[in-house]
Amino acid sequence: MGQVSVARPKGTRDLLPDQTSRWRAAEEIAHRVFSSYGYGEIRTPALEATELFARSVGESTDIVHKEMFTFTDRGGRSLTLRPENTAGVVRAVIENGLAHGPMPLRLYYVGPQYRYERPQKGRYREFRQIGAEFFGASGPEADAELLAMLFDFLRALGFRNLSVSINAVPSAMQREGFSAAIREFSRGLHDRFGEDDRRRLEENPLRLFDSKDPETLRALEGAPGAIEFLDTASRAHHDEVLRLLAQLKIPFVENPRLVRGLDYYTRTVFEVTSSDLGAQDAILGGGRYDELVAELGGPHLPAVGFAIGEDRLVDVMPLATAGTARRIRVIPFGAEQAAYALKVAVAMRQAGTGAIVDLDVSGRGFKKALGTAAELGFQEAIIVGSAEVDAGTATVRNLLTREQRTVPLSELK
Ligand code: AMP
Repeated sequence: MGQVSVARPKGTRDLLPDQTSRWRAAEEIAHRVFSSYGYGEIRTPALEATELFARSVGESTDIVHKEMFTFTDRGGRSLTLRPENTAGVVRAVIENGLAHGPMPLRLYYVGPQYRYERPQKGRYREFRQIGAEFFGASGPEADAELLAMLFDFLRALGFRNLSVSINAVPSAMQREGFSAAIREFSRGLHDRFGEDDRRRLEENPLRLFDSKDPETLRALEGAPGAIEFLDTASRAHHDEVLRLLAQLKIPFVENPRLVRGLDYYTRTVFEVTSSDLGAQDAILGGGRYDELVAELGGPHLPAVGFAIGEDRLVDVMPLATAGTARRIRVIPFGAEQAAYALKVAVAMRQAGTGAIVDLDVSGRGFKKALGTAAELGFQEAIIVGSAEVDAGTATVRNLLTREQRTVPLSELK
């Protein structure tokens, strides 16, 4: 039988070392900036009970309706690979008693998410998000502080010309009026809607604004905006968020069409776009979700958060992460010096210079190895022959200037 090669699942990626260095740089900056705001990292399972997402993200959303990786385990339980992380964080906050602990509670996460989407550039079935959730503060200062942190993070990644696109939506409980108004507006427009959008209109008219069908979006021009259906307190909250953003000099644009693809938002919803990115999708989205914790069986606990699409973020971030590290290759003259070369390489690494130290194990002979090291961009070589072995020394050669000097192992630096 011939060998069958197995390919990775559709919509997934292998991230190779020349890519992961950029990912790590973005994540390290996230850890640094978020920690400075008092956030602690949380890691939740990639698998959750399916019901968690039906109850939080919402039955009528595209995510729950057709994008979840759901299966029955051997014990007959329905499990789902998480399509987003907020629901899991909220579950963990309730399950571990944090919802009754000191407030406010600031948590962030970094991790893979799964959606059965049609793979296309920038959209994957396994993708990664960096997100933050701020629990226990209902005031507009919390929304503004979260956005300030987000901007600090994005600026540290080199983004400029950022702008928040912001809106406010009535909570799920207060959506009746808005839903009725959209149904009223859409009367007679049915023929312009595709099957999916007709279902949206039926189940949850707010979702129509998420439609990817340009014809639907055109038909909705002139439709009433969500903001018109806010109660007085929510309206005041929204106005104050905008005032605080202006005070913090965070550029924003009010976008009455923005509703975001998840059902749990209340009041503030936002996306961040950068003119550095052209007309592409937003790199992140977020909003306030004051009713979700209670909805999932916890106490009444207001919250606001965001999720950044890390794949896209890393693709477009201006931060230069090209390696500037000093790179050294240790080369034995012949096979007899291989063991000593290993010892030299270890000594060099332990010298704590931070240099990348590579040991030539090719056995191709010294001349060839020196040439290859220079071609591969090593700046220095440490050469060991029988004289060095006998004397307990090593010869350090600068591959650019070809200068070299012989030093005792204890003086390697
Ligand atoms: P959402 O969780 O839908 O609010 O999305 C937040 C961010 O995650 C989006 O702005 C995208 O950048 C990113 N995102 C969502 N779905 C995908 C996907 N299938 N592939 C890559 N990134 C995604």
